[in-house]
This record gives sequence, C-alpha cells and structure tokens, in this order.
Amino acid sequence: MVSQNIFACMLKVEHIGIAVRSLAQANPLFAQLLGQAPYKAETVASEGVETSFFKVGDTKIELLEGTTPESAITKFVEKKGEGIHHIAFEVANLEAEMQRLKAEGFVILNETPKRGADNKRVVFLHPKSTGGVLVELCQEITEESNPG
Ligand code: ZN
Repeated sequence: MVSQNIFACMLKVEHIGIAVRSLAQANPLFAQLLGQAPYKAETVASEGVETSFFKVGDTKIELLEGTTPESAITKFVEKKGEGIHHIAFEVANLEAEMQRLKAEGFVILNETPKRGADNKRVVFLHPKSTGGVLVELCQEITEESNPG
C-alpha cells in the first residue's frame, strides 16, 4: 500500500548526478550533448567533490568529480566507472519525507541532513532498499529550513 500524505511529497526530479573522472573532460562533452555551457560550478569540500551544473528544462544535470581518495565519487568511479550516480528528488519537507520513507522500510544513509551543492539540504537512501538506485532527497535551504 502506498500511503497518501499531502504534507509530505516529492515535487520533481531535481537533478540527475553523474560521476565523472574529470570535469575538465566531461564539461565540454556535456556542453556539446546538451547544447549549452554549464551554468554553475561548485566545490563541496566536506564531500570531497567538485560539481558542475547544467539546466535541462526544469531539471538539472550535476556532474561530480571526486577530489580526494576517500570521496564517495572517487570510490564509485574506481569501482563502477563513470556514469549515473544518483537521482535527486526535490521534496517539500525533508524531515516529513524521511519519516514517511522510513515508515515504508527504506534505509536512510544519513539521518542528519547534509549540506549539499546548490544551496540544498540532502539525505541519501541506501541503494539496497531502492532497487539499486542511489536516491537523494533535497530541499532548498530557505530562512525557515536553514539549520544554522
Ligand atoms: Zn545530487
């Protein structure tokens, strides 16, 4: 059974995260593919990643390059090669959605939302509980949702 709760909902696919070996190489490739330059580059030092963003309609493509050996992106590329790393859903209320998904049996990787790129608070769901897909939930940081 899928429970309905109008106060907790996923709004859209916010972005698709793609792990790359080198942004210097991937940026021109995706610029060619999408017919546009990336509109933003951002470093998330706490995660050991550099990112660049492309807009495709209402959705974004996030390219991720690991900058440290411990970075999840570095490990992912070493193990699986370059490719789709995660799908990110924008949610209306991160805590409510975490609660709903936990109740449905999904495994949340970080109970405390992390600061992600693009002014977002993010949590990830364990791919073992989501059919092998790493799922990110993100919520834009606003005045009320800013943890500090
Ligand atoms: Zn992401």
